[in-house]
Amino acid sequence: MAACTELTDDRAQEFFDSFDTVLFDCDGVIWTAKSAIPGAQETLKKLRDLGKHVIFITNNSTKSRIQYAKRFTDFGLGKVSVNDIFCTAYAAAHYLKETLKFEGKVYLIGESGLEEELKLHNISYTGPGPDPVVGTQQDWLQIPLDPEVKAVVVSHDIHISFVKIFKAASYLSNPSFPFIATEMDGRNHYPGTNIVKPGTGCIINAVKTAALRDPILVGKPNKYLFECIQQRHKGVVADRTLIVGDSLGTDILLGRNCGMKTLFVLSGISTLEEVRHNQASNSVEDQKRVPDFYLPSIKELGDLISKIKL
Ligand SMILES: [Mg+2]
Repeated sequence: MAACTELTDDRAQEFFDSFDTVLFDCDGVIWTAKSAIPGAQETLKKLRDLGKHVIFITNNSTKSRIQYAKRFTDFGLGKVSVNDIFCTAYAAAHYLKETLKFEGKVYLIGESGLEEELKLHNISYTGPGPDPVVGTQQDWLQIPLDPEVKAVVVSHDIHISFVKIFKAASYLSNPSFPFIATEMDGRNHYPGTNIVKPGTGCIINAVKTAALRDPILVGKPNKYLFECIQQRHKGVVADRTLIVGDSLGTDILLGRNCGMKTLFVLSGISTLEEVRHNQASNSVEDQKRVPDFYLPSIKELGDLISKIKL
């Protein structure tokens, strides 16, 4: 049975000696929607001073690597190279270009981050922006499909509409057209309110239902983002890598799937109660969602570095 204990002073030296690379999830770990999580800047600096290679790996598909790099500086977290940022907008474009050697145009349900990454990978696309229903059902049957489109990418899109699902599913009726999607996050719930923001998974499921096809998912817990990291940084190996995340079903599961060390922080989406539930479960899948260690937040990780021998 998997164990998960709080990372304490007496385990710190052994823990920090056990990895060379740290993969940080971003939302709920490094920052919230509005600002950096307290202690993030100090902890990142201490890890780099220890000689650790710090890399960021996020399922959030709304931004490109360049947009994320700007966010690090905007939030006072210093300069981060785009070479150390791995997001699902990048992964989707990279998968098309490098794995599928894709030639042609993409029908994109997505936002500016994906547009930017497709452009950087020299892939043409159509689709972003509002696409409302016009006319009657007879008119919809005349909706022109672009003959140059040869693939469909589905991601977060605040302009998702009936017409977009209609078009995506129609393109996907050609079984040779790849169907790429970013991540299946279901929702964000705002604690203390009854507000629920639908996640990308809701959009992907709508297209999937109409198309009668399953997408290739490039986000966590799929290993593809980690494979992108290993392609870019040749020295990164799973058993000398730590992943720090707030989601048991994406960050921790990816870490366990790849054989990394896993650290769960309580500053985001999953809870310690869920860890305890998974620990007590007989299901192999639940057991894979049990991290090695937990801490309240990234701040306490930095505090522990101050207590080890350098
Ligand atoms: Mg997160």
